[in-house]
Amino acid sequence: MSDLRELYQEVIIDHNRNPRNFHKMADATQCAEGYNPLCGDQLNLFLKITDGIIREASFEGSGCAISTASASLMTEALKGKTIQQVQTLFEDIHNVLTKDGEINAEHLGKLIVLAGVKEFPARVKCATLAWHTLQNALTEQSNIARTE
Ligand code: ZN
Repeated sequence: MSDLRELYQEVIIDHNRNPRNFHKMADATQCAEGYNPLCGDQLNLFLKITDGIIREASFEGSGCAISTASASLMTEALKGKTIQQVQTLFEDIHNVLTKDGEINAEHLGKLIVLAGVKEFPARVKCATLAWHTLQNALTEQSNIARTE
């Protein structure tokens, strides 16, 4: 577990300082906004989907280190995945963050560091914000995704 904690801190700090895919996307096919009132995290997510595959993912907004790092990690993980693969990933991440038990580490890749957030229950919604926003973007809901 201490390895995970170290990795967690390293990855969260890195992705917060240098968020990946942190920009607007002019030719996005899907976008959604997310808001976590508990912490004040806000983000806009942009996706470019063709033939059922996510070709590009980007985001912008302002939030705490965990929400920014989670969105950054997520946009990296989405590229090249099918909608179905992304749904599975969403469920796995949700389980990792909200349930106890075995973690399917291999499947999650670098996203496994998000499991470290579970040690800080008040911050779980910061980590899930990007993923709830993703759900809205995929289902083309125009409502703002809220964690509350
Ligand atoms: Zn937050």
